[in-house]
This record gives sequence, C-alpha cells and structure tokens, in this order.
Amino acid sequence: MTERAPDVVVVGSCMTDLVSQAPRLPKAGETIHGHKFFIGFGGKGANQCIQAARLGVQTAMICKVGKDFFGNNYIQNFKDNEVLTDFVSQTGDKATGAASIIVNEAGENAIVIVAGANMLLGKEELQEALPAIRTAKVLLCQLEINPRTSLLALEMAREHQVKTIFNPAPAISDLDCNFYTCSDVFCCNESEAELLTGCPVADVEDAHRAAQELRKRGCSAVIITLGSQGCVVLKAQESKSIHVPTAAVTPVDTTGAGDSFIGALAFYMADQPAMPLEEMARRANQVAGVSVQAVGTQTSFPSRQNLPAELF
Ligand code: ATP
Repeated sequence: MTERAPDVVVVGSCMTDLVSQAPRLPKAGETIHGHKFFIGFGGKGANQCIQAARLGVQTAMICKVGKDFFGNNYIQNFKDNEVLTDFVSQTGDKATGAASIIVNEAGENAIVIVAGANMLLGKEELQEALPAIRTAKVLLCQLEINPRTSLLALEMAREHQVKTIFNPAPAISDLDCNFYTCSDVFCCNESEAELLTGCPVADVEDAHRAAQELRKRGCSAVIITLGSQGCVVLKAQESKSIHVPTAAVTPVDTTGAGDSFIGALAFYMADQPAMPLEEMARRANQVAGVSVQAVGTQTSFPSRQNLPAELF
C-alpha cells in the first residue's frame, strides 16, 4: 500500500504483554513452573490504532517506545499492520512499556504494568507530528500516557478543526474538565462512566443517565459501551440518548473489546463522517462483537476482508 497522509492519528500507549499461564499465582518469594508463555502486543493506543488500520483507513501512531528489542518489535508490528510509524520515537532512557501478566487456571490474573517510555511522550513529539495532526480527519487519545500529553494533543486537534475521540481509560476520578470540552466524542465503558460520574452504571437506564451527566461537562457527544448490551449514544444537541443493542454472540475472550469498538468508531468517523453517530456505533458494535469471538487482543481484531461488505 502506498502511504497517504493519515486520516486517523492516535496519540497513546504501546505495551508488550508478557503472559505466563500457571496452575496458580505464586506467593511472595516463591518460584513456580508455568505451562505456557506468550508475548502479545497491547496498550490501548496501539490497539485502537491497529483496529482502525485493519478496517482500511490510513492511520499514524504518535507514541514512544524504548531503544530495545520490544520497541523494535512493536515498530515492526505497526508496519505489518500498515500503520505509519514516522512519529513512533525511541528513547534510551526508559524501556518499552510492558505488562507482566500471570494467569491461573481459574482465569484470575496478577498484572504488573511498567509504562516506561510511554510516559516520556510529550509536547516536543506532538510538535514534530503537527503536520499529520493538522491534516487528520480524526485524532484519538486515551489516558495510558501522561494525561497532559493527551490533553495537549486534543487541544492541537481542536485548533485545526480535527474531530476528536477521547477514551478516558484507565479512568481517573478528578479528570481535568478540559478533556470534556476538547472531546467531540467522549467514549468510555461502564466502569469508567461510574468512576467519572460517581453514580452506579450497571444497566442501560443507568448509562442513559450517566451519558447526560458526562455531556453536561462539555463534550459534544457521549458513547458508553455496555459489553454484550452494545452501547448508549448521546449525540450532540440531542436531548435523548439512544440504546444501540448488539447481536448476541458466544464470547471466547473479551479482552480488548473496548479498543476494537473505539478503533472501529475512529475508522467510521474518518471514512464516512456524514454517517449518523448511532449507525457508526451499530457498526462498531459488530466489529467488536467479532473480536470477542477470538482469543487475544490485537490477534482477535478483524480486518476488512473478514467482515460483511455491508459494514463498509
Ligand atoms: P475491555 O476492557 O474488555 O477491552 P470494555 O469494558 O472497555 O472492554 P465493553 O463495554 O465490555 O468494553 O465492550 C465494548 C464493545 O464490545 C461493546 O460495546 C460491544 O460492542 C462489544 N462486546 C463486548 N462484549 C461483548 C459480548 N459479550 N457480546 C457481544 N459484543 C460484545
């Protein structure tokens, strides 16, 4: 594929998942034998970027990895997925972000995340990427990097009339109010909506209420994802939110479903900007619904050729 100017720009994290499966979780000071080990590509930013790219839009990732094996490997992963890597920088000061994950037979896990190089992504790298940010159709950020960098990216996009999607994950309770005012679409899951609003979000009715509360804080539109229940969409300038249900599927592994949904949403906003937001959400539900039927995170994200033509 020849490289075009990116339509979707993601400013966010890259994490290498180091996963060991063992009969149980080790106690402090203990060494135990596991039965399987694998390395996976993760990080919310990279996941969302790769899902958008697989649907067929030119994407660019603005992120930082270490000058190490995992960093080199991650850059290759972006290239394999046709993501533009001109703004993936490497640092010798910190290692590539990594998540060491141990999973026991009951499916419970213990995880240590070291954000490493992700936290060194800052203003300078955003300035270097300004030509791509300025001409993008959609800019997407999360909170797995320094929140100040995410906010600055959203502000830069806004300044150039680029549509923004903000995914406040992992959620922080005292989110700077500028994140809301810089978001065209504020997209979160139930637990993030609950933490941000301080009200329980356990069902569709709660999500309708939470969406109103979040929009009052200044974003244009809100989407709250609800797992097998699909999502709730509150559009700009509309008084009532809409429940967008999704088809029942048999889930195998829901890890990364939220990232698949958001990556797909970014794709539709860039590819078919005039499409009503609830229709984009209906299609993103379908894409994420495919992802939950396969194992892994990025490994489960579908490509355009594996999806029904009516989604495009
Ligand atoms: P995760 O943290 O596992 O990445 P999340 O909690 O951020 O996910 P969810 O709300 O669980 O996000 O799921 C995102 C979207 O994925 C849903 O809106 C829906 O479209 C799809 N999805 C998730 N779980 C299921 C399921 N069991 N059946 C069908 N679709 C699902």
